[in-house]
Amino acid sequence: MAELVPGKKDAESPPAVRPDLVELTGYHSAQVEVEVRLNTNESPLSPPPEWLEAFRAGLAELDFNRYPDRQAIELRRALGDTHGVGADHVFCANGSNEVLQSLLLAYGGPDRWAALFEPTYTLHRHIARITGTAVAAGRRTDRYALDLGEVARVVDANHPVITFLCSPNNPTGRAEPLDQIRAVLDITPDLVVVDEAYGQFAPSTAMDVVRSGVAGSGRLVVVRTFSKTWAMAGLRLGYLIGPPEVVQACELVALPYHLDAAKQLAGRLALQFVDEMETRVAMINEERGRIAAAFSTLPVETWPSDANFILFRPTRKKAEEVWADLLDASVLVRDCSQWPGLAGCLRVTVGLPTENDRFLAALSESLR
Ligand code: PMP
Repeated sequence: MAELVPGKKDAESPPAVRPDLVELTGYHSAQVEVEVRLNTNESPLSPPPEWLEAFRAGLAELDFNRYPDRQAIELRRALGDTHGVGADHVFCANGSNEVLQSLLLAYGGPDRWAALFEPTYTLHRHIARITGTAVAAGRRTDRYALDLGEVARVVDANHPVITFLCSPNNPTGRAEPLDQIRAVLDITPDLVVVDEAYGQFAPSTAMDVVRSGVAGSGRLVVVRTFSKTWAMAGLRLGYLIGPPEVVQACELVALPYHLDAAKQLAGRLALQFVDEMETRVAMINEERGRIAAAFSTLPVETWPSDANFILFRPTRKKAEEVWADLLDASVLVRDCSQWPGLAGCLRVTVGLPTENDRFLAALSESLR
């Protein structure tokens, strides 16, 4: 990255990037060819064939020469109906990462802070930094639970304009109880953003707090994605449910026509397949139980999960070695062992039963 360092410019080279970006390393998950891919928490199944059929038919009707509906109104209405709110409470973008980026562009920036509680989803910190937003990071407890005393300390010290929660928390797995979310709304006078990328796998959702109208719910934003349960990671679609003022603020920073017509169609059609999605969630949750049960017979420490992944720490062998053994068996998991607060940890995505069998067999072999 030497060419990015300020001060190295000569007549032929481009200018140095913003000094606050120089130290930034990207967020990359290994993209290697393997038979069993359990590293990025995607759906192990493609979308239902009936969805594909309807999508193909819909694509044939699109006016590709015309810009898409800038307001994505039909998609937003359909999402609003799904969650029991009006379209004015819905903002959509290219993946939930772009939703998070829109929130930070609208509310963050110079002289503003975002709070988060680590270990948590690393992109909250990363996107805050690329939008020039200062990050106030608190710690979770030893068991990775949210500590309300720590939340109060961070909020009092930095007055964050956004406080991020992640429920279920990636990569540790637990959903945030609703009374914790209400308590955080009491602690901060500003926005609370609950990232529910894995919300459908969990027993509770902050959507209920949004709809309840309790004090502070007008400052609560819930972010969701089509990348996991909806099996559409390749299409890049995410959204938020929140107050209309927040939706309008995100629209201020969105580029014109940022959501293409094919994506709007894909998302709208996906919402007609709720039953299929719920059947898949039930299958994944059952498989998660099976993996957790198998872990209890192996030399690993593990944490309860409400998501489609499980965090675990081999206790008798180094995480890097286990990761490499799994890769030798063509099973790819996420190596979190170098992330702050996660020394020695790996994260496995729950896959199809056959994939989970392959993972468990390779893990048992590695730990034998
Ligand atoms: N939030 C969390 C907690 C995630 O784990 C992910 C995916 N890794 C995302 C958001 C981003 O999802 P996408 O941009 O694919 O919608």
